[in-house]
Amino acid sequence: MRFDVITLFPELFAPFLSSGINRRAFETGAVELKLWQLRDYADGTYRRVDDRPFGGGPGMVMLAEPLEKCLLAIRQDRALKNPLEQPVPVVLFSPIGQPLNHAGVEEWSQSEGAILICGRYEGLDQRFIDAHVDVQVSLGDFVLSGGEIAAIALLDAVARLQPGVLNDEGSHQMDSFNPALDGLLDCGHFTRPEVWKGVTVPTVLMSGHHADIAKWRRQQSLVLTQKYRPDLILGARLAGKLSTQDENFLSHLGAAGLVENKSD
Ligand code: SAH
Repeated sequence: MRFDVITLFPELFAPFLSSGINRRAFETGAVELKLWQLRDYADGTYRRVDDRPFGGGPGMVMLAEPLEKCLLAIRQDRALKNPLEQPVPVVLFSPIGQPLNHAGVEEWSQSEGAILICGRYEGLDQRFIDAHVDVQVSLGDFVLSGGEIAAIALLDAVARLQPGVLNDEGSHQMDSFNPALDGLLDCGHFTRPEVWKGVTVPTVLMSGHHADIAKWRRQQSLVLTQKYRPDLILGARLAGKLSTQDENFLSHLGAAGLVENKSD
């Protein structure tokens, strides 16, 4: 899979590509990433990429022309490297888009990739968006100063789903939101020491009894999801992912799901 990123700040991506568990995805080429400096496609001595908005008002707007030149260069490069590839979608990071979620990340992680555009200033000239953008993706209902953090968030989430990236293959299966499992939140985790500041690790986790541990984790997951994201419990129920034991357990939780589930 290959992602091309159009950005004015390619250097923001370097630490992310060379650190942590995801480094493997980029080093092995499981996720190919190519950064394109938009300024290289701008004309004139000053290589201008923005201008004042028609109609007045604060801020600057990204020019359509350099964006289109850069996009065409990417399309050409992709076609040269892989002549059989179908054109991949153009994604713009923007507060207008659907907020990124697990289902979206899974879709991208199984795709051929995409061309990602990181906006800056007040955003892009609308005519470029209308002519070329296929999907708009938001990171949430707040405003970033640029699309780079949103692009890194998407790439990070996609990279960790690639086979062989996480040390433990099954690890992401247990993560929150995984619909293949149930879409619930992950349970809490504990590590050494057994007692920290007078608080002991739940005894069941020390028992070595795998079935009991699995049951306890399932119940913790139900407790946390009921407490913090009851909408996900409803979703799991509708998708038929809650067993009779799950339903029995849930019906014994407090009305708001606030009862702590002790280790036994
Ligand atoms: N004037 C715009 C904000 C521009 S912020 C507005 O009010 O909607 C500059 C750039 O940051 C945007 O073009 C976009 O690429 C990026 N950005 C800002 N908020 C974002 C968000 N919530 N999700 C994804 N990208 C965002």
